[in-house]
Amino acid sequence: MAEIIKKNHKGIEYWVKGTNPKLLILSGTHGDEYGVIEHIREYIENNELPDFIYVPEVSPSAVHLKTRKNINGVDLNRSFKKGVTEPEAIANMEIVQGQHFDKCITFHEDLEDRGVPQYYIYDCTTCSENDNNGYLDQMRRDLLSKGYQALNGIDDTEDPGLGHVAVDGYISIPGDYTDDSHGTYETWGIVNKVFKRYLNPEVPSMLSPAQKKEMVNIMFKYFLQA
Ligand SMILES: [Zn+2]
Repeated sequence: MAEIIKKNHKGIEYWVKGTNPKLLILSGTHGDEYGVIEHIREYIENNELPDFIYVPEVSPSAVHLKTRKNINGVDLNRSFKKGVTEPEAIANMEIVQGQHFDKCITFHEDLEDRGVPQYYIYDCTTCSENDNNGYLDQMRRDLLSKGYQALNGIDDTEDPGLGHVAVDGYISIPGDYTDDSHGTYETWGIVNKVFKRYLNPEVPSMLSPAQKKEMVNIMFKYFLQA
């Protein structure tokens, strides 16, 4: 088993396994979604993964503050674009510069009060045929068997840049990506060919720590195969 080497670039900690990482894993982009981070760290340390780069806290200052925005008052996930001046975004871009990952798994938490917890995931590839191997459907059934419901409905009613409709917890965003002006890490990565696909799970923030851990473990298992 290749060793995990923990590095730091301009205050951003990142983990590297192997010499040819095709998997990028991210968490802590929004500081108020810190509840999944410890479970992701634990999963990565205790399971055999293919070569990867993992950034536990994409925005360490936001995680420290436990707020969506970072210490400079910016939503880091709107800062990944041309002409960016936000230091945390620049440092993250430099960490993955020149890499070509097959897949980026970026964990977020859904903070909306939906009454009952409901998870969903965004899936984007540069082709239009997402989830063609069926692993995400298996994941949904596995999660349901443990009592976790998938969202059917709108992802976010307040953010004008969102407003996608999830069907069985799944939001596919295929397309021809040429414009990174929206500023999300995900779009930036696709446009700049840093990765070909992203999977962005939204774990319900209202779950208990034990439930978050269980959900993260199940998601990892299927995401690695999808
Ligand atoms: Zn988020």
